[in-house]
Amino acid sequence: MRGSTVEHQLENFINGVNRRNPGETEFQQAVEEVAANIIPYIIDKPIYTEYQILERMAEPDRVITFRVCWEDDDHKIRTQRGYRIQNNNAIGPYKGGIRFHPSVTLSVLKFLAFEQTFKNSLTGLPMGGAKGGADFNPKGKSDHEVMRFCQSFITELYRHIGEDTDVPAGDIGVGAREIGYMFGQYKRITNRFVGVLTGKGLEFGGSLIRTEATGYGTVYTAQNMLAVKGDSIEGKTAVISGSGNVASYAAEKINQLGGKVLTMSDSSGFVHDPHGIDAERLAYMIDLKQVRRGRIKEYADEYGCEFHEGRPWGVTCDMAFPCATQNEVSAEEAGTLIANGTMCVAEGANMPTAKEGIDKYIEAKILFAPSKMANAGGVAVSGLEMSQNSARVSWSEDELQKLLKETMTGIHESCHEYGQESDGYVNYLKGSNIAGFIKVADAMLAYGVV
Ligand code: NAP
Repeated sequence: MRGSTVEHQLENFINGVNRRNPGETEFQQAVEEVAANIIPYIIDKPIYTEYQILERMAEPDRVITFRVCWEDDDHKIRTQRGYRIQNNNAIGPYKGGIRFHPSVTLSVLKFLAFEQTFKNSLTGLPMGGAKGGADFNPKGKSDHEVMRFCQSFITELYRHIGEDTDVPAGDIGVGAREIGYMFGQYKRITNRFVGVLTGKGLEFGGSLIRTEATGYGTVYTAQNMLAVKGDSIEGKTAVISGSGNVASYAAEKINQLGGKVLTMSDSSGFVHDPHGIDAERLAYMIDLKQVRRGRIKEYADEYGCEFHEGRPWGVTCDMAFPCATQNEVSAEEAGTLIANGTMCVAEGANMPTAKEGIDKYIEAKILFAPSKMANAGGVAVSGLEMSQNSARVSWSEDELQKLLKETMTGIHESCHEYGQESDGYVNYLKGSNIAGFIKVADAMLAYGVV
């Protein structure tokens, strides 16, 4: 009886979300994944249903879209679309990254802002959920073109953000260079030097280890899950996708903990290096991808290893770290990982595995850390950057490393607690959804209907 009521409520809820957000497939996918865990949890807690908490969380507080015009180096005028999705600020100011990539759409940013709400809650810090960006492709653009775009973008966005309102950060296509240009323009327009963006340069209010935090945190999560089984990263092989911020520092931490990184990728394909992408080779990779902004095949040419078009999930490994983008592991590829004996998947990217792929991990009972649990280290250190900016102080690297580790351990503990199944398996997806939900939901109840 309870089962059929749950199914009925879930179906009604999903139908409503799909009807109100037609064609927004990524957003629908993210909401359905969360609802599948939350509706069974709240079915016997009627207060949440009565106050329509999940329905309200799946409807952004505010969606801002705007035109961004800029002039390229050939004096041609270009027009892009900018966005900021302020999903939920029940537990703190809106917080979430900005993405510059041609694939940016309303649906992608709404899914990211929704996920961010749960992730930020898991960190234990007072941050609401948001996400923003534009369909601008920084690839192949000169520094001056990127600067003009960032200045134009923030000239509209500045009126919607603030250190106590909404604090954006970086994401795909937005690193220290872009944050610097945006912060500079914000400061110029408002004549205020405040912590309105995180991921800033160290000279102007940035925090130590912010750059490394997401990748490191993802690997700490794998380490925490393995530790429950009395196991560790030492001696294990890892397949990583991506070669950007998250992938690079995940690789660094795996090396530090005695693992071996077999692959990294970019949007053109992946390199498979059986020797392992050790510290020296990783330094080459970081220079190639982050400084020279080249293509990953150059790495294969440099070290005489294989380059393949496509994705790396067919390479046999103990651990997999998808760290590039959403929906980059299909159900079939998830099946291949399992068939090849992968024991642990920790998602550095947001929603990288297709829903049916996640079902396969859980069915096979492997260790699986979904993105909201595994990649929360970045936003956690962003939260610490906000605190440092407010107090006008800079904490030491040791202090921040300790706080990052403690935060990831705390997140693992909450997800472990709520993810326990009767047969002993820990369903971290369920755990992260429920643990992330409770704090936001209870704050919303306290406010009444607003
Ligand atoms: P990044 O530095 O821009 O790197 C992105 C990497 O993914 C690049 O190697 C890029 O290849 C590759 N990539 C992008 N789109 C792709 C596609 N459609 N197909 C194949 N490869 C693709 O970005 P990032 O900051 O590392 O972010 C990566 C993921 O982590 C995203 O899902 C992001 O939302 C998530 N995340 C980031 C943070 C953070 O602190 N940065 C925090 C939490 C979550 P190219 O070089 O060819 O473009």
